[in-house]
Amino acid sequence: MRVFNFSAGPAALPESVLAQAAAEMLDWHGTGMSVMEMSHRGKEFMGIQAKVEADLRTLLAIPEDYSVLFLQGGAIAENALVPMNMLGRRTIADYVNTGEWSKKSIREARKYCTVKIVASSEDTNFTSIPALGTWQLDRNAAYVHICTNETIGGIEYQWTPETGEVPLVADMSSHILSRVIDVAKYGVIYAGAQKNAGTAGLTLVIVRNDLLDRALPITPSAFHWQEQAAADSMVNTPPTYAIYIAGLVFEWLLAQGGVAAIEKKNIAKAALLYDYLDTTQFYRAPARKMDRSRMNVRFHLQDESLDSAFLRGAKEAGMDQLKGHRAVGGMRASIYNAMPFEGVRTLVAYMKQFEQQYG
Ligand code: PMP
Repeated sequence: MRVFNFSAGPAALPESVLAQAAAEMLDWHGTGMSVMEMSHRGKEFMGIQAKVEADLRTLLAIPEDYSVLFLQGGAIAENALVPMNMLGRRTIADYVNTGEWSKKSIREARKYCTVKIVASSEDTNFTSIPALGTWQLDRNAAYVHICTNETIGGIEYQWTPETGEVPLVADMSSHILSRVIDVAKYGVIYAGAQKNAGTAGLTLVIVRNDLLDRALPITPSAFHWQEQAAADSMVNTPPTYAIYIAGLVFEWLLAQGGVAAIEKKNIAKAALLYDYLDTTQFYRAPARKMDRSRMNVRFHLQDESLDSAFLRGAKEAGMDQLKGHRAVGGMRASIYNAMPFEGVRTLVAYMKQFEQQYG
């Protein structure tokens, strides 16, 4: 029996995607082989990858003058590859610090350049996104880096910063494809696939073509965006099976009506949980209301000694992976695209019942 899986990532996939992958496992479309076993340069896989890219372009309305790269390494690798690919002759990069994933990006970037923290929500314990008016942007910075959804802290940008001539670079790992975005406002978007776009091993990089000439000479070829863009992400063997799974997820998303339609569902799912959290004293949700993440709903039991009983009961009721990240404790319900409404309803019903029992 499948559970309602609230994992922050790798995360739940649509059941129909898993069923299709299983059905096609031994023999993809009459080729007599699994996608895993195909040459990445054969016409079958090249066809798969071209379709995956076309579907992603449709889903996010990616403008023509952007390249889409399918890389390995995950978002953590990109934390280093962003400065390597973006610094050019500049030595300064602006970073906004909104929590654990921002901090990781900052720590990594410091190996390559002078990092300026232009805004931080540390003063609110990373429960809010600093207003744009407070950002101390540097016009000489190579780029401005933000994490648009902090998976651990549970806060999310509900708006897009304007950074003028300085390109905006965003780590969208935990909310890409969950809401409509205007790609043209970003210079670079990157994301690990294992939350809303499939399985671990694939990293998506969407980069405006005029930014492709800034890589430092030391940038490894496998992670050199310009070289990868010129080679259709085949400088090295791309993560073929993860690309195929992402393709099935994209087809599923298109069948759901695309990103605008899934965004409506995501708003409704998050509201169900937050509306309940707003009515109870038994639980608390630390994120500032206007910055609450729709994807990662963080909450705490006021009485932390009940945490393990809460998790045990949830598991018995068919809900798994609700434990919060060790950095912040408490609980976290990650409710990505693939989490059905029913999963959130079941969680809220359980939370109410638990409150009645122990409150
Ligand atoms: N950034 C964000 C916002 C994340 O949520 C994660 C993974 N949870 C990462 C970066 C790191 O991704 P990876 O482990 O794939 O490198």
